[in-house]
Amino acid sequence: GEKMAEIINEDIKNNPQLSHKVTVIEKILSKNNAMAEEIREEFNKHKITCFNMMSSPGSGKTTTLENLVDKLPYKFGVIEGDLETSRDAERIRNKGIWSFQLQTGRACHLDAGMVKHAIPHFPFDEVEVAFIENVGNLVCPASYDVGAHYNMVFVSVPEGDDKIEKYPVMFRKADIVIITKADMVEYFDFDIDRATRNARKLKPGVPVVLLNNKTGEGLDEIIEWIKEKREEHLNLLQR
Ligand code: MG
Ligand code: ZN
Repeated sequence: GEKMAEIINEDIKNNPQLSHKVTVIEKILSKNNAMAEEIREEFNKHKITCFNMMSSPGSGKTTTLENLVDKLPYKFGVIEGDLETSRDAERIRNKGIWSFQLQTGRACHLDAGMVKHAIPHFPFDEVEVAFIENVGNLVCPASYDVGAHYNMVFVSVPEGDDKIEKYPVMFRKADIVIITKADMVEYFDFDIDRATRNARKLKPGVPVVLLNNKTGEGLDEIIEWIKEKREEHLNLLQR
């Protein structure tokens, strides 16, 4: 919300007619933020750490979740966002994990209002960690707080390392950047060093992990990061 407001404020300076439209957008975002805060409180009350997973379509978010099932030392639940179908939620459920599908229809991102629909069903007393798999899109999901504690941003090798510079708002929000389909790096002009540099220009010090979902290479690093964030979150809750 903040970043979006910043960008919009820049626009207003150059175009005063925009100001009415902006008031409307700001109202929508502040309503969303309030609702997101309620969701986060609900997670906090149950000592659940929630991760918002964002990326383009097909970068491997669901596959990563499937691969986490056997290795993550926490019980978790997944809230899935997709335009249509319940395929991803079914994939997760087939692994024995609780999941809830939100079909957004034409909305190309999740917002807190949508996530709220999953909350009454969420198994708060059975899990320690929640994942929200956002709709595949590197643009607007970055502007909508969905009540998570941490953001995971995925970018796949075939998409190209230039995606990081092209979608700065998204990568500024990243608490971890996960480069998926690492096995394809020799077939594509994806420069890992450049990607890492650009990611850290937008978010200083952000961890960048190279993930190969076929071999599981990189998965342990992600699990370590999740454990770290889980500890951090629990410590914050104790204050
Ligand atoms: Mg998916
Ligand atoms: Zn959208």
